[in-house]
Amino acid sequence: MSQLEHALGLIAEVPDFPQPGVLFRDLSPLFADAKAFRVVVDALAETIPADTDVLAAVEARGFLLGGGIAAAHDFGLVPVRKPGKLPTVADEVSYDLEYGSATLQLPAGTIRAGQRVAVIDDVLATGGTAAATCELVERAGAEVTVVSVVVDLAALGGRERLAGRSVRTLLSV
Ligand code: IMP
Repeated sequence: MSQLEHALGLIAEVPDFPQPGVLFRDLSPLFADAKAFRVVVDALAETIPADTDVLAAVEARGFLLGGGIAAAHDFGLVPVRKPGKLPTVADEVSYDLEYGSATLQLPAGTIRAGQRVAVIDDVLATGGTAAATCELVERAGAEVTVVSVVVDLAALGGRERLAGRSVRTLLSV
């Protein structure tokens, strides 16, 4: 078994969270293991085109991965946040969830027109979160180079929602 396979094997499967019938993938044990965290950071970094300037990391677990990749592999980092956290907001995008809606905000003074941006998160499910983040990046006049996540929940259709974009995942379940 490779080090990456071992690391991905640490992801816990939690039934009925956050609601009955959902099998939640929890990366907490992976993050808690120094070697596994480093191996996954490096593997995800390899999916990012070299001419990428900055990572747009999605709250909250995307911050952990994005921070690790940015520091180890020399990218800038932009935390894309849920409402009510940022003192100054450049833009926001709302998107539909199964029940209700969600909003993501881009901090002011971060992404500039013409920059090349990789979108980073832990899990791709329906793709709504990643699509909204891509929209924030593109409305700032920047270009998305790749959407890179650790786990793709393939049955939920995220890749289809992101059709036409470069999507890279370390594990598809
Ligand atoms: P989507 O918008 O439906 O693709 O959901 C992706 C977002 O929800 C990401 O920000 C994930 O962190 C989170 N998410 C959805 N399902 C899971 C899961 O099973 N484990 C961890 N995060 C999840």
